[in-house]
Amino acid sequence: NGRRIINFSAGPAKLPEAVLEHAQKELLNHQDTGVSVMELSHRSADFSRIINRSEKCLRDLLNIPDNYKVLFLQGGGTGQFSAVPLNLMGLKPGKTADYICCGSWSAKAAQEAEKFGKVNLVFPKMKKYTSIPDPSTWNLNPEASYVYYCANETIHGVEFQYVPETNGVPLVCDMSSNILSRHVDVSKYGVIFAGAQKNIGCAGVTLVIIREDLIGFASEVCPVIFDYKIQSGNNSLYNTPPTYSIYIMGLVFDWIQEQGGVDRMDKNAVTKSSLVYDLVRNSQGFYNCPVDESCRSRMNVPIRIGSPEPDEALEKQFLEEATKAGYLQLKGHRSVGGIRASLYNAVRVDEAQHLVEFMTQFMERNR
Ligand code: PMP
Repeated sequence: NGRRIINFSAGPAKLPEAVLEHAQKELLNHQDTGVSVMELSHRSADFSRIINRSEKCLRDLLNIPDNYKVLFLQGGGTGQFSAVPLNLMGLKPGKTADYICCGSWSAKAAQEAEKFGKVNLVFPKMKKYTSIPDPSTWNLNPEASYVYYCANETIHGVEFQYVPETNGVPLVCDMSSNILSRHVDVSKYGVIFAGAQKNIGCAGVTLVIIREDLIGFASEVCPVIFDYKIQSGNNSLYNTPPTYSIYIMGLVFDWIQEQGGVDRMDKNAVTKSSLVYDLVRNSQGFYNCPVDESCRSRMNVPIRIGSPEPDEALEKQFLEEATKAGYLQLKGHRSVGGIRASLYNAVRVDEAQHLVEFMTQFMERNR
């Protein structure tokens, strides 16, 4: 009907149109197999090609060194909140891990890890997740089995702009909401994991990138499907993997490659988020972002209307008018309220421009 819909969902989120069209084209007949990818055996040569290509493309995009394994697992980011301590707490006898908690997702991961070992919060729980305490204040334990952090806190819009220094302790990172949106030096990490449904595909598959020497330390009670050694020994095919989600992920990797790789995604992320942050900065207090300038997320932009206290009625009106205009899923997470624009890789620069135009007009009508 010609109506422009733009999806700013925090996840499951927008996929590139080209990926959806590609999937649609071969939905009933995948590359002359006569069947859909959904109907292929996970042990077939056809599916092997799919999973191997997805892995190869990811390795190219992220320059993953040869001593790292790539796993395609189930259970989401939340599954990894358990899998990480189950596999890694035992790296050192003390079964202790350091957690850097700058938002709800890392806090949830820390809470889960407490079931499996001793958790050390490297700084006291924050009252508000709007900043990252200076690393000089962190109380890191040199005897920790690993140090854990979340690179981008999806709910609060707090993103690390640097890699934490851990002095040799393996670093574990939840990159669910910013993976492939910026260059990362994989060799600085022990484990990187990410659910697919934000930047790299649809729900159902969770990517785990793990340095080989950290494999093989799982607790004896670790469920077999979460055991990194068993999963890597079977190339993620110990049991039936989420085949279709792995296929879609591969198409997204191809699309990123075609767009110009991580470099292009990074530049676009800066462009898109700056458009919104600049408007907020120049709105003379009409729009506000609660997050410190130094750690504002390029992926999830949280916005409040009104100051010093947010005007919730006006925010509600904003969201209603936005939805009517075709700007979807701009509501902030239910735990924080307000507005949140998620600007993942698939969201185009012109789509962010449309949002800024809408926000500008809304401000002019209501200030
Ligand atoms: N980590 C982060 C940073 C997230 O944003 C989310 C989901 N929004 C999760 C973990 C949890 O992922 P899942 O819902 O796939 O379990």
